[in-house]
Amino acid sequence: MLDVLIAGAGPVGLYLGALLLQQGHTVQILEQRPARSTHSRAIGIHPPALDALDLIGVGDLLCAEGVRIRRGIARSDRRLVTGLSFASASPRHPYVLAIPQVRTEAWLEQRVTELDPQALRRGVRVLGLVDDGASVRVVTDTGELRARILVAADGARSTVRSSLGVGIRQRSYPDMYLMGDFAESTADGDVAVLYLETGGIVESFPLPGAIRRWVVHTDALVEQPTAVGLARLLRERTGVAVDPDSNSMLSAFNVRAGLARRMVHGRTALIGDAAHEISPIGGQGMNLGWLDACALAPLIGTALAGGATGRGLLHWEQQRLRAARRAARQAELNMALGRPLPAKALGIRNTVLGTLAGPGPAQRLIARRFTMQ
Ligand SMILES: Cc1cc2nc3c(=O)[nH]c(=O)nc-3n(C[C@H](O)[C@H](O)[C@H](O)COP(=O)(O)OP(=O)(O)OC[C@H]3O[C@@H](n4cnc5c(N)ncnc54)[C@H](O)[C@@H]3O)c2cc1C
Repeated sequence: MLDVLIAGAGPVGLYLGALLLQQGHTVQILEQRPARSTHSRAIGIHPPALDALDLIGVGDLLCAEGVRIRRGIARSDRRLVTGLSFASASPRHPYVLAIPQVRTEAWLEQRVTELDPQALRRGVRVLGLVDDGASVRVVTDTGELRARILVAADGARSTVRSSLGVGIRQRSYPDMYLMGDFAESTADGDVAVLYLETGGIVESFPLPGAIRRWVVHTDALVEQPTAVGLARLLRERTGVAVDPDSNSMLSAFNVRAGLARRMVHGRTALIGDAAHEISPIGGQGMNLGWLDACALAPLIGTALAGGATGRGLLHWEQQRLRAARRAARQAELNMALGRPLPAKALGIRNTVLGTLAGPGPAQRLIARRFTMQ
């Protein structure tokens, strides 16, 4: 019998797998996809998550490849509104690291495979489970497996969560976005830029390889996005020209959020998007999942050694649900900041923002909030 089965080899399942393998447990990670997803999603890694990644020896690898964003600025109507430094965010990692999720997952998978080449099993779909109180029997499309503990890291549409009958509070938002990566065409270097415009926000972030990611708030979901259309929108709203031929990723999305009612059920724990889906505009979902895993791993160690974990797990669940609610509120604030506004109201709001985010304690607080402290 295995010590731990993990459903899902996204960034969160892979991270937990590496952590538990390092602690000497027998672990299998079951992933339905035969190959890693190339769909570009998360790019921002915050200081507490970098500390967690350091524990499995992956933080330095990511930092060597990613772009360290030490500062963000806000512009409106081609003028600077305010700036925000992340210098006080953390002594070890005073920046937000920007790197595409696909690269992050590649490093995590490499670490898992180094620790145990057999730990990750691709092309295996978890269908359901039976918890008999002493172990969990996991039913997959290729057979059954038994483990002392099951961890569901199988994403927002978690099969494990549904099988357990754990409820989820879901919410959708009116906000729609168009996102694309283009060759760098600005002089903003490693600075993140928010363009607060009457038509809605435009966000831009530097990525490795002289690429910049652009995220634009749109009135409706763009059903068939094109690089030319996004380039036109960017020029109209911000005055910035990007080369449509240099586009390397394009995606349109709407926003949902969800929070599971429980994260622990018998011998199963839910982590990552399986427990909480956060709007991408918060830039925190993946980070939050790693922090779930980081805090859960020692409790799993105690449980496997026969120790009592009842109170510890209750505390873990309360803390992690609280962190998810805080991240969801931050994301809602970010989305509200990005909605279209008439010129006069935008002008007033920008003045308030400029004052609030000026140098001083308020700026430090905002920087800490943006970096998950
Ligand atoms: C556009 C966009 C931008 C984002 N930007 C950021 C950001 O900057 N920072 C940030 O922190 N977050 C961001 N996020 C959120 C982030 O992508 C997610 O929070 C993160 O991927 C969650 O990781 P996970 O491992 O919990 O779930 P997932 O990444 O969804 O992985 C779950 C895995 O489980 C597998 N699986 C599912 N069901 C089964 C099954 N039954 N059996 C076996 N395997 C199964 C799936 O195939 C998948 O590989 C963004 C999201 C989007 C959409």
